[in-house]
Amino acid sequence: MQIATKDRTAVSMVKEALDKAKRCKNYNIFVSLNEEAAIKRAEEIDAKIAKGEDAGRLAGVPYALKDNFLSREGATTASSKILEPFKSPITSTTVKKLEAEGAIMIGRTNMDSFAHGSSTENSYFGPTLNAYDETRVAGGSSGGSAVAVAKGIVQFATGTDTGGSIRQPASFNGVFGFKPTYGTISRYGVVAMASSTDCIGFFANSASDIDLLMQICSGQDPYDMTTLPDYYNESEQAVSGDLSRQRERRIGSSPVTTGRATGAPDIAAPVRIGIIKDFDLSKIDKNIKDAFDKKIAELKESGYEIVELDMPALKYALAVYYIVVPAEISSNLSRHDGVRYGYRSKDAKSLEEVYSFSRNLGFMPENKRRIMIGNFVLSSGFYDAYYLKAQKARTLIIKEYENAFKKCDFILTPVSPNPAFKLGEKVNDPISMYLEDVMSVPLNLAGVPGLAIPVGRTEPTDTAKEGLPIGLQIVGPRRSDKALLEFASKITKREGK
Ligand code: GLN
Repeated sequence: MQIATKDRTAVSMVKEALDKAKRCKNYNIFVSLNEEAAIKRAEEIDAKIAKGEDAGRLAGVPYALKDNFLSREGATTASSKILEPFKSPITSTTVKKLEAEGAIMIGRTNMDSFAHGSSTENSYFGPTLNAYDETRVAGGSSGGSAVAVAKGIVQFATGTDTGGSIRQPASFNGVFGFKPTYGTISRYGVVAMASSTDCIGFFANSASDIDLLMQICSGQDPYDMTTLPDYYNESEQAVSGDLSRQRERRIGSSPVTTGRATGAPDIAAPVRIGIIKDFDLSKIDKNIKDAFDKKIAELKESGYEIVELDMPALKYALAVYYIVVPAEISSNLSRHDGVRYGYRSKDAKSLEEVYSFSRNLGFMPENKRRIMIGNFVLSSGFYDAYYLKAQKARTLIIKEYENAFKKCDFILTPVSPNPAFKLGEKVNDPISMYLEDVMSVPLNLAGVPGLAIPVGRTEPTDTAKEGLPIGLQIVGPRRSDKALLEFASKITKREGK
């Protein structure tokens, strides 16, 4: 991460980022820019640096904020009409932590409305274009954040990942995107989608930049009772976590050493990589399959052990996700009633009409579809058949990951079955859009961490001369986040711009 210094001032960094953002206007990356406040903050950081004071681990670093993070600065819309005029009275924990270290928010990024989607086409403000092909989608829901990093506007951006919304757009745009273990980063002050799978995470140009952001943002928060104690920064805990226990069990049977200095976990030793037999790789795009096979071959050559895993319950993950998540969405979105905040229909003549007109005009079609599915699966006649059954299947998926991580340290899979698809190709066909999430949602159901890493490009196409980016994801056991990022640093090279 390049931070501000006396020679490379925060003001120059912020101005440069804002200029780049304006030059990339046609990509529709930002919902709003935070120009004046950002420059003012940069001046304050420069003044600190000039006095020789500590300006923080992210001193003067411009960043982009997904538009579902609340902050007292500017307005949060979650790319929806219903929140369009919403000024938050609070600032999210993540924004507070980033800014306490000197980071400077230059703008809020476009997303699928309320994070419902895989292409950023469900945004009230129109789609974001792919960084490598302007005829294709950016992925979603955090499309704007991914493209902001891919275009080199900012060194990092925030995202939320409820079912792949960080990893999938990261892989569509050739950057790193990390979804931590559920509960590692506070969700306080972030517009809720599905509270049992929502995670805060980051886009950046390397796993080590993400590690720094994790050091800063992870930890327990009294405002989010689902946050975990700060295992990320307690190296002792990380060292004695699942990974090292597994490694100790293997001593004697394989040439593994546990010797490590105190501090960060040592993952120099061979690591067992799981590949999932149950994903039918013959159905995925050939470029992605080839990139996956090539990476596995490379890992084998470098001495990593490859373990085949049976995970039959994963085939239910997509169905489970599209029951559990809409159920939670229907509950979380009930607060948008045209009364408490945001948009209110002026045509309404009764309270009933205030609710129905405001919600009808304020939500995008995909938001409404999910509210309806959610209400249906929770309704008294169908609760047992859908919601309860999905929760039972979710437990099987969680157990399946636990068993898998007895046999391997990390799992490697593609992030999505296809590279970035054409704008308009799937937006009117929800099932084909949902199918894009088949490899990303299982992690959210199980609460395990996953990092999308860029591994190359497809063959060039007419509209993408350099080819489209391909991403793979590294999946780890719960709380293995630190070791996962260190492992990723070892097996990737920097792909910055
Ligand atoms: N694409 C998934 C969905 O539409 C994931 C969204 C997300 O992670 N916010 O539900």
